[in-house]
Amino acid sequence: MRTGLAEQLRHLDGASYGRYKSLGGAWQMAGFTLEVVRGQADPYAPPARLALHVPAEHAGFPGELRDSAVRRRALAGYLVRRAAAVAGRGPVHIDHGGQEVLDRSSCRIGDGIGIGSGGGSGDDAAGAVTVRLGVELPGRGRRIDGRAAEEVLCRLLPRVVERALRYASLDAAEVRRFVDTVEDTDVLRRSLEPRGLVAFVADGAVLPRRSGVDDRPLAGPATVPFASPDAFRVEVDLPNAGRVTGMGVPEGVTLIVGGGFHGKSTLLRALEAGVFDHVPGDGRELVASRGDTVKIRAEDGRRVERVDVHAFVSHLPSGADTADFSTDNASGSTSQAASLVEAVEAGAGTLLIDEDTAATNLMIRDARMQALVAKDREPLTPFVDLVRSLHRDHEVSTVLVMGGSGDYMDVADQVIMMDAYRPSDVTERAHELARVPTGRHAEADSFPPVTHRSPDPASVDSRVRGRSRVKSRGTDALAFGDQHVDVRAVEQMPDRGYVTGAGFAMELLVRRGHLDGGRTLAEALDLLDRDLARGAAELLTVHEDDCAVPRRHEIAAALNRLRSLRIKR
Ligand code: ADP
Ligand code: MG
Repeated sequence: MRTGLAEQLRHLDGASYGRYKSLGGAWQMAGFTLEVVRGQADPYAPPARLALHVPAEHAGFPGELRDSAVRRRALAGYLVRRAAAVAGRGPVHIDHGGQEVLDRSSCRIGDGIGIGSGGGSGDDAAGAVTVRLGVELPGRGRRIDGRAAEEVLCRLLPRVVERALRYASLDAAEVRRFVDTVEDTDVLRRSLEPRGLVAFVADGAVLPRRSGVDDRPLAGPATVPFASPDAFRVEVDLPNAGRVTGMGVPEGVTLIVGGGFHGKSTLLRALEAGVFDHVPGDGRELVASRGDTVKIRAEDGRRVERVDVHAFVSHLPSGADTADFSTDNASGSTSQAASLVEAVEAGAGTLLIDEDTAATNLMIRDARMQALVAKDREPLTPFVDLVRSLHRDHEVSTVLVMGGSGDYMDVADQVIMMDAYRPSDVTERAHELARVPTGRHAEADSFPPVTHRSPDPASVDSRVRGRSRVKSRGTDALAFGDQHVDVRAVEQMPDRGYVTGAGFAMELLVRRGHLDGGRTLAEALDLLDRDLARGAAELLTVHEDDCAVPRRHEIAAALNRLRSLRIKR
């Protein structure tokens, strides 16, 4: 362990910038260790990577705040937000995330077990806190600014540790509330399946966001808090919040209808986000959907590699085999068909679809159109004829927003109407209407079993000239090896760290040999899930970049969008 960082920095003042390299290693500071993981080569290079290691005795968090994986994730989520607030805007960058409380590499709480053979010590010691961050090392031109560096490394970072990472300096009630809130959402989510529900939205929840680019809750008198309709009201007992009431969305096919601008998409987006836990004050703390809920949408232009879409697409003008369908440029309908089949392949249990982002011709085909265009001319089988079988035969539920067509009334188990942001149960009325014949006939009676695919690991290469390159571009894209993976249509990726995590996970699928050319993607994801459950983020944090631990569904989604992906014959 090195000592005397301040003297070393004063000594380096005015030296050429490259000499920052000499800082590498671990420095003993007052109460913590400052590790320089990677230096910064020049003033314009990416910031240096540092880690703050705070031993459990110094951090001082009581056991009940960290005695389960969920609580450790929540505590870390709280601490990293505090740390970022103390660090402020400036040369120190801490990946604190947004409204979602994710397992992230930027802050970890030791569990006393660890994943390595030497587990249980150092960062893994119970209650130890590790924060990983980026620091722009100060320079004057191409020279080291030793004074400024001393200010950042020897004063600002110790302040972060003292004010943000020690229990004694924090508002104990606020920490507790954060941890309790996240734990409640987690318990709520786990309680869904035993009750036959796919989602729950608590009374009083605030679903709308401030804007399309601001994920914080809408505030002000115009905001209508959620109020459950009698027919779907359920009660849930949570460990911290106690008894809460709200709308339970049952398994099966759920249709959300209502006029334009009445809050349909907002409700669906809340269910989309319900696979994640949210910070106190978010408004969606007690909105949860099952962990295997996946949003599906159209995405023309995407690549598709050997997906069996014949349930949706019977034949194509090109004569291509739709049971083994590949394209570099999918249409709206074929992209959505492929994404849906891929989601089921990767283990989705609930699908969310919004008319706003769906391909109409894949969703519906009404009686008149059936009469005008004969079946042998129309390759598409609309989802309306498959959605029931998806539940009946495959246990995959669907929640669908559809304000523009009544044909789904025939197949919906329950129909929720949004009216001025207030949901009501219109199932009975919808079923009455469905008894009046429309002249429409079903075009299919069952959704076939999905064909599982075995990806070729050689086609999933994260290296460029021998070195790993995995980097996110916001939530829009992932640089993976020499490729650009467009993930704009993968809507359940909350932040850039999550996208990076999906990239690291793809790399890990190959590096660990889970993808071996023989195993199916689903089998490989099972193995990776097992790894991640054991070692969580540690497996992903061997990298220097900030990341969050992704779900298997987004890992699969990113992989499926990799243009180099090849499936073994
Ligand atoms: P729809 O999908 O039915 O057309 P949206 O869900 O897109 O409607 O909502 C329309 C607008 O209403 C959006 O600007 C949204 O933020 C706002 N909104 C949605 N729910 C509420 C609510 N509960 N209170 C206030 N405004 C809301
Ligand atoms: Mg809408």
